[in-house]
Amino acid sequence: MQINVELVTIGNELLSGNTTDTNSAWLSQQLNLIGLQVSRITSVPDIKKDILSILAESENRADIIIMTGGLGPTSDDITKPALCEFFNTKLVFRAEIFTHIESLLFKKQLKINEYNKMQAEVPESALVLHNDLGTAAGLWFEKNNKFFISLPGVPFEMKGLFINKVAPKFQELFSLQAVYSKTIITHGSFEAQLAETLKDFEDEMPENMMLAYLPSPGIIRLRLVTTGDDLEELKAEVKGQINKLQELIPEYIIGFNEDTLEEIIGKILMDRGQSLSVAESCTGGKIASLITGVAGSSKYFKGGIIAYSNEIKTDQLAIEKSLLENFGAVSKQVVENMAINSRLLFNTDYSISVSGIAGPSGGTKEKPVGTTWIAVSSKSATNSHEFRFGDNRERNITRASITALNLLRKLLTEPG
Ligand code: ATP
Ligand code: MG
Repeated sequence: MQINVELVTIGNELLSGNTTDTNSAWLSQQLNLIGLQVSRITSVPDIKKDILSILAESENRADIIIMTGGLGPTSDDITKPALCEFFNTKLVFRAEIFTHIESLLFKKQLKINEYNKMQAEVPESALVLHNDLGTAAGLWFEKNNKFFISLPGVPFEMKGLFINKVAPKFQELFSLQAVYSKTIITHGSFEAQLAETLKDFEDEMPENMMLAYLPSPGIIRLRLVTTGDDLEELKAEVKGQINKLQELIPEYIIGFNEDTLEEIIGKILMDRGQSLSVAESCTGGKIASLITGVAGSSKYFKGGIIAYSNEIKTDQLAIEKSLLENFGAVSKQVVENMAINSRLLFNTDYSISVSGIAGPSGGTKEKPVGTTWIAVSSKSATNSHEFRFGDNRERNITRASITALNLLRKLLTEPG
């Protein structure tokens, strides 16, 4: 049986562009995980007639309609009156919600006011989904075998209610199949190339499995999702497919699920008691920022120099002027010396350096925008590579940073 789910996000701020609708992206992913697909997402303003008309429309198409937003205590929050009109019911005061609101406010040392009291009023025909994390209760309605769920707009409250109250009810109601998914993180290829390499793999995949390509600058995630009756069987199936991928594209796989390069590197360095420094030009500190985003990075990351100008490259990193004059800042010679010198200066086991033309200007015929040299240096060797990224400054900076981290990862995991 195909179950249709529609999402309706409610709020003027979503239509003015002041708030990005992250609720529907998150809900869609979570619904996928329990085997339900979203067929439509609509955002409407906090206007009663707009809410009523989208509910009437969605009711004709969908089996489940999930709304978020507009449950708050202020007068612009109009979802509850709209729901009352739609379900032909009225607002009633619920003492248990009021007690919960009182205790939440008491913890925050706030005084209860008229608006808070209004939050304890909910449509009479709704089943209340108790919201541990906030004052706006979730609401669950059933009408002609269709389900209407209204959740608060605040993302973490919405997530809490969905995971704890809504998803379990769906699983019970629809005896949904088990779903298992695993993400393979790749770097160094691009979508079209991967799709070509994996064509046979995809053709031979079991019927109940799907492969999705999720690209972002420098990283393509491959998400394998499979559905069936038995979770353990599904896990084994996915494991088998991942083994195949490890044979097909070993050079591109850098991790799984939520792994990041900076965490992978951090773990290795931490385990070995080794240290790292950076010398960054075009990435302007992004690599250091990624590394220090990992908790515990102070154990292995000593510091770095953002050598953006030639003056800093010569004065602080001791790059010889003649190298800059003869080869230019974006060159093998300069980037290798940046890595070696920062490693010596900071007295670390490893150092990463980057110098490139992020764009949009500054390119030449020989070195177009996107040209980037990256070096990694250890006590025993210094390697460098030239890359030609694209013409988008922001993406170039991200790609250069990720590529640099990956070169270090490779050096750290090389056999021997
Ligand atoms: P509250 O009781 O906190 O007022 P509410 O149900 O009234 O909850 P809203 O007032 O619509 O929720 O939104 C509360 C906050 O959540 C706002 O900061 C809003 O920008 C944010 N928000 C609302 N909808 C979304 C959405 N679809 N995606 C991301 N953030 C959202
Ligand atoms: Mg609102």
